[in-house]
Amino acid sequence: MKRILITGAAGFLGSHLCDKFIQEGYHVLGMDNLITGDLKNIEHLFGNKNFEFYHHDVTKFVHVPGQLDYILHFASPASPIDYLKIPIQTLKVGSLGTHNLLGLAKQKEARILIASTSEVYGDPLIHPQTEDYYGNVNTIGPRGVYDEAKRFQESITMAYHTFHGLETRIVRIFNTYGPRMRLNDGRVIPAFIGQALRGEDLTVFGDGSQTRSFCYVDDQVEGIYRLLLSNYAQPINIGNPHEITILAFAEEIIKLTGTNQKIIFKDLPKDDPMQRQPDITRAKELLGWEPQVNRAEGMKITYDYFKTLTEEELRYSEH
Ligand code: NAD
Ligand code: UDP
Repeated sequence: MKRILITGAAGFLGSHLCDKFIQEGYHVLGMDNLITGDLKNIEHLFGNKNFEFYHHDVTKFVHVPGQLDYILHFASPASPIDYLKIPIQTLKVGSLGTHNLLGLAKQKEARILIASTSEVYGDPLIHPQTEDYYGNVNTIGPRGVYDEAKRFQESITMAYHTFHGLETRIVRIFNTYGPRMRLNDGRVIPAFIGQALRGEDLTVFGDGSQTRSFCYVDDQVEGIYRLLLSNYAQPINIGNPHEITILAFAEEIIKLTGTNQKIIFKDLPKDDPMQRQPDITRAKELLGWEPQVNRAEGMKITYDYFKTLTEEELRYSEH
């Protein structure tokens, strides 16, 4: 049985990846320090003999017993309000944490895939974004702590690949959504759905003309799975190219939820990218991958998930 270590296991993407690899017949070691994650996301796996959990901060030396075939490094705050609240930890998990996991991969002779992001392109000057675009990042702006940690993460990963011959994979993830997102993580989908469920107005930042392209979590997980098993070491975009303005998206949420609330406008956060859309030619050609779930289907599943939260969870999420 192949053994895989997944960091960030109690988070949104990490927990879905744990499910996927358990389902594919792997022995999964999940690791998390619960700084933005929640054990609820993986509690259904606790009785499974093919799952173990390590409560550990990956910026400290990482050790796990036994052989390892694969490592997925997904630990990192991922939403703007999280990494603005914990900027130093964000820089550390992308840099020191990645270094620790590359060292572990080298020691165990494991293949490692690291979770990079469309944020390496910053506020992009080309559209849609291809993998050979170098990006437009403000290193000292509020988002710089995340963007530069991820850019360093890519550099050190590639250095371990070329210098130590380590088997590495780099996925550049574009906005992904689905069940188990934290309602109060500030990202636009939980923010809008939470507001609709609590009977609050929907807060569009700026004039809402900025765009995003939202990928359903099952598609993202399938892309990551295929990339891990491929022999491709260069970065690869995984995301859904279907682009929408945030204002049009707020209107879609109003229809989906049937809320009577209106849209209100708030200041656009500094360095908020104005447009984002993945070019997925590489993923199509090399992995035979493209998204299967359209936004209407994915958003319905996601809304149904958020509707299962209790009144208390909804209220708590306001803070
Ligand atoms: P998340 O916040 O739900 O999950 C991140 C997990 O990492 C949490 O459980 C958190 O507790 C854990 N963590 C953070 N620092 C840690 C540390 N030092 N040691 C151990 N665990 C730690 O976020 P997510 O959306 O699931 O994102 C997962 C990964 O995917 C991140 O690396 C993120 O940068 C990347 N990513 C996500 C998206 C997206 O749209 N969801 C887009 C681009 C990149
Ligand atoms: N956004 C918004 N209202 C909110 C939360 C976010 O208009 O309540 C906007 C935000 O300014 C950005 C887009 O939605 O333009 C996506 O934000 P998110 O935090 O989800 O992801 P990211 O900016 O990292 O792509």
